[in-house]
Amino acid sequence: MGKSLTRREEDYSKWYNELVVKADLAENSAVRGCMTIKPYGYAIWEKIQAELDSKFKDTGHENAYFPLFVPKSLFEAEEKNAEGFAKECAVVTHYRLQSDPDRPGKLRVDPEAKLDEELVVRPTSEAVIWNTFKGWIQSYRDLPLKINQWANVVRWEMRTRLFLRTTEFLWQEGHTAHATKTEAVEEAELINTLYANFVEKFMAIPVIQGIKSESEKFAGAEETYCIEALMQDGKALQAGTSHFLGENFAKAFNVKFTSDQGKQEYVWATSWGVSTRLMGALVMTHSDDNGLVLPPNLAPIQVVIVPIFKNEEQLELVSEKANLIANDLKSKGVRVKFDNRTTHKPGWKFAEYELKGIPLRIAIGPKDLEKGTVELARRDTLSKTFENQEGLTVVIENLLKDIQHDLFIKAEAFRDDHITKVDTFEEFKDVLNSKGGFLFAHWDGTSETEEKIKGLTKATIRCIPLEQTKETGKCVFSGKESKQRVLFAKAY
Ligand code: AMP
Repeated sequence: MGKSLTRREEDYSKWYNELVVKADLAENSAVRGCMTIKPYGYAIWEKIQAELDSKFKDTGHENAYFPLFVPKSLFEAEEKNAEGFAKECAVVTHYRLQSDPDRPGKLRVDPEAKLDEELVVRPTSEAVIWNTFKGWIQSYRDLPLKINQWANVVRWEMRTRLFLRTTEFLWQEGHTAHATKTEAVEEAELINTLYANFVEKFMAIPVIQGIKSESEKFAGAEETYCIEALMQDGKALQAGTSHFLGENFAKAFNVKFTSDQGKQEYVWATSWGVSTRLMGALVMTHSDDNGLVLPPNLAPIQVVIVPIFKNEEQLELVSEKANLIANDLKSKGVRVKFDNRTTHKPGWKFAEYELKGIPLRIAIGPKDLEKGTVELARRDTLSKTFENQEGLTVVIENLLKDIQHDLFIKAEAFRDDHITKVDTFEEFKDVLNSKGGFLFAHWDGTSETEEKIKGLTKATIRCIPLEQTKETGKCVFSGKESKQRVLFAKAY
């Protein structure tokens, strides 16, 4: 069939790339570092989008759209942000091509069509949005302003990988403006918790909420909140970020409001985003050597029905029952597909749906018609049972809930088993090399120590967990005083 995958144990990275392509999620494109998201992958992304979008709206955010291009002078206004992203910027310098006199039939950039000011392709939209907010905010009555944009952004990444890190990626970016610091901090925290709940409940991926160290935080932010997940190979993945931006962008773009006391004050800001990277997290958290495993909440098809038959007549009889089952499931809101194609054998279909991660598979043949049963297979456990046709919809509805729950529990047990408290640097290196995962260690709070540890081990501080019992100690590397433990890991 040509569909068999490299095993995770053999080469995790190869397994991942093969799986993304073979399960029809995405493929590499003609443009280095940019991917084509295929219909099946895009259908999953649409589920992620729809759920997040409704959560944003429920919490008072509105969608809007801002330009793809940022004039360089605007881009450089907030200096730290500009400096942080400068190395990854794609820049438009010309606006026209023309026939190349030296190469018949080919085109060249028209030297006459040079832009007066270069345009940066947005790596993130704070600059263009805060320049716009200046016109939208005058008084305290205009606040809070809570905007979200679904868009593509470009960051010229040197090492790319399908979904996890691409040059162009799809994301949502929230940008909010507030009258007080307290309100802005609360917003950044609210969104981080919203992300955590979404990723855990909807994607069945356990995450740790925390804040970033100085060197890992967003360029231009005062504080970066994040959710960190752990992949099956023991590497961490930053799954989402929410930034408290202080007054930095308001000052850079001179955005002030008249307070209810009649005073002119700078506006407080947040920004936050999750991207198509979540698709990579999904694959790497749940899938196995047979292919994708999808949590039912995200699966474009939750149940597939495969008929077993030897001839037309049998197919007709089986189809009649299968259609009744499908319609009953549909009426309860279950996403079901009846695959009655005669061009493929049942065995081929089984393998295909296993690869695509469909949570439940029903097989039904002439024998089942006699007995009033179906064969029901779970993708996550690969277990099979015989179920009565009578009452099948309720069984399936419950099973879908169980699968959603069990996937989270399984991933959480793995994650918890891969958080190791370490107190010496020897232990740190040993655990990192033998087991991987998160290392919960004391740190002296300096960027120098963080940098040295990274240089020696490739592990970085993933976050300072928000929930932890305060415990002082000695830094695992320098031996200096430490205020709390932080989570280190090798990361994607
Ligand atoms: P940031 O604006 O840097 O805080 O990133 C917002 C979100 O986009 C985070 O969840 C990042 O993990 C994700 N992200 C950053 N760079 C990339 C990339 N090159 N490809 C996919 N996702 C990314």
